[in-house]
Amino acid sequence: MRENSLKTLEQVRMYSIPISDHRVSELITWYLRTLQRAIDIIWENIEWKYRFPRIERRKRKQVVIISYKLKAPELPKDKSFKKKLRDELLLDCPYAKHWVDAVIRTAYSIMKAWRKRYLKGRARRIKPRVEKRFARCKITLMRVDYREKRVRITVKPGEHVEVSWSGKWFAKKVEDWRVGEVVLKDNRVLIPFKSTRIIKVRDVIAWDSNELSLDGFSPRIGFIRVDLKPLQSMKITYERKKRIAQSKGLKNIYGKYVARERNRERDFVNKLASGLTRLFPNTIHVFEDLEKEELVSRRKTLKSRRKRNARTPWINIQKKISEKAVVVKVSSKNTSRTCPRCGYVVKTQVGRVYKCPKCGFELDRQKLASINIYLKHSKMRGFPHSNDPEISMMGELWVGVTPSGWSPVTWIPMKRDPEGSEAKGRGLGIKQHQAL
Ligand SMILES: [Zn+2]
Repeated sequence: MRENSLKTLEQVRMYSIPISDHRVSELITWYLRTLQRAIDIIWENIEWKYRFPRIERRKRKQVVIISYKLKAPELPKDKSFKKKLRDELLLDCPYAKHWVDAVIRTAYSIMKAWRKRYLKGRARRIKPRVEKRFARCKITLMRVDYREKRVRITVKPGEHVEVSWSGKWFAKKVEDWRVGEVVLKDNRVLIPFKSTRIIKVRDVIAWDSNELSLDGFSPRIGFIRVDLKPLQSMKITYERKKRIAQSKGLKNIYGKYVARERNRERDFVNKLASGLTRLFPNTIHVFEDLEKEELVSRRKTLKSRRKRNARTPWINIQKKISEKAVVVKVSSKNTSRTCPRCGYVVKTQVGRVYKCPKCGFELDRQKLASINIYLKHSKMRGFPHSNDPEISMMGELWVGVTPSGWSPVTWIPMKRDPEGSEAKGRGLGIKQHQAL
């Protein structure tokens, strides 16, 4: 099945430009004081409301939903409250008035994030405190000169701070990109650059994230396996080195290992993401929503799975790919237990091969989740029977990243290669073989 549709790819890249200007530090100090004050006032005006159980229909069954928290905080949102808050903060504002609006917006976003976490039982009933020094700007306080590659930020009426990205190492990467709202730090300005491109989508690949491999499925290509062992062995090596340094109390060396490990991991993730997006152009990449999984079913997630996810930087990999290609996330629920053919969900899972007790569908378990992720994306069921010619003709592609050296992607042919047939016409030198 091919998808010939147009999708919008939105990309955001953040770059920082060093500055040294005492006015910025002073502004940040005022910003933080005012931000905390805004949070204080919003906090005092929270209404704690009872939440009542409600009835919902789920899968043709009536279910009573009882919230985890009995009383929910409702943030004050009415116009008169917001006006009073603004007037009060303006009393002590030597800066442009829009800075007060920037403060109020940041205060609300902090409070909304706290409220969400509180309702999920992940935050306590304690007023949020701002600790990091920053000031988030508003677009109304900025003027961008794209020709001169310059941002002018209004501090006070008639008083500005200017930063330029002309001649910076990333200038070429963000040519024709739009500038978003900057964040001021004591010694640097963070500028988000945004671009929106329309992409013609030809293919969909669903990826199952495993500790040692990224297992993909696409109806056009078949199964794809990306080897992550080099990353794992690098991490294990550094874990050992760090442990030794720690046991000897060598703080400096420990810190050095931490930094080196992080750099090598970043390098690997970058190469992986650019390799995959180059190899599979015009493709939607479908992933399981790991962030959501982590948030929603923390208690239910298997310990082993949590550990494996901790060692593989999944969220970074997804993020990096989403900077270069269209990424769609689907829920990870039951992806490794559902029969892709009839939809039956098995309770226990043992052995290397998945066998559906209901319809007899058989498949290597490692490949099961990627098919289910694909089906979740396309919202269909009824994958062909395992001995259908359609599925047995599907190839398997092995891809690896060499962490050192310049070539980002190497192709490793399958160990058992019965046909030895080379995929033609794509110029990639891919070895394919029968997958099942
Ligand atoms: Zn089945």
